[in-house]
Amino acid sequence: MKLKILHLYPKEMNLYGDHGNVLAIVKRCEWRGIKAEVIEHEPGDIIPNDIDIIFGGGGQDSNQNRIEDDLRKIGPKLKEFVEAGTPTLVICGLYQLFGNYFETGDGQRIEGTGILNLHTVAGNSRLIGNIVIDAPKFGEVVGYENHSGLTQLGEGLEAFGTVQKGFGNNGKDHAEGVRYKNCIGTYLHGPILPKNPKITDFLIQTALERQSKTDKIKLQKLDDRIENNAHSVATSRPQ
Ligand code: GLN
Repeated sequence: MKLKILHLYPKEMNLYGDHGNVLAIVKRCEWRGIKAEVIEHEPGDIIPNDIDIIFGGGGQDSNQNRIEDDLRKIGPKLKEFVEAGTPTLVICGLYQLFGNYFETGDGQRIEGTGILNLHTVAGNSRLIGNIVIDAPKFGEVVGYENHSGLTQLGEGLEAFGTVQKGFGNNGKDHAEGVRYKNCIGTYLHGPILPKNPKITDFLIQTALERQSKTDKIKLQKLDDRIENNAHSVATSRPQ
């Protein structure tokens, strides 16, 4: 068994420990004897056809700008993967750009891939702090957010979770992130996966099930005491 993880723009899109998400996926594979290969995609690279998991992190407006042209080129291929059910996790800056567009505080419009029917417009202040959400299937999810963008989900799109503490998509409707097929978009940095191992395992399990064309994969249980401890410490922090 081997999983290929596509890591989008690790140089440009990597805020508040986002890279740790890739490490978490690789480690939880290795601990179970599953091989994991990471393919780092930078502007100009060609994406292989046999990708099992897609991950992309957050970035400053200027870095989102830097990857805009390349993202437009690879957008249709990424859309095919997501539509086919490839497990995908995109955080903050790339969550925004998996949507239709992000309008920055300078009034500049950065085009997204349109994979997710949502759009983002910068507000007057940044939404910063620790965040806890309640997510169907995963329960309590904890992380850290720092964004100017206010995101509105298009009709029919389901949020990833409901905000318990923090701001989420826009600080108003209590929605956080998006869930579309096997793609999760979220504002939660932190990084999110090491302290929310259920989400890591969802990505791994879904990838293995798609590869083996069954829904009968049972992941070996791991000792998650350290992860669960990190989760509770993060949850108990004030916003
Ligand atoms: N630049 C975007 C914003 O400020 C995304 C920031 C991020 O990825 N943390 O909304």
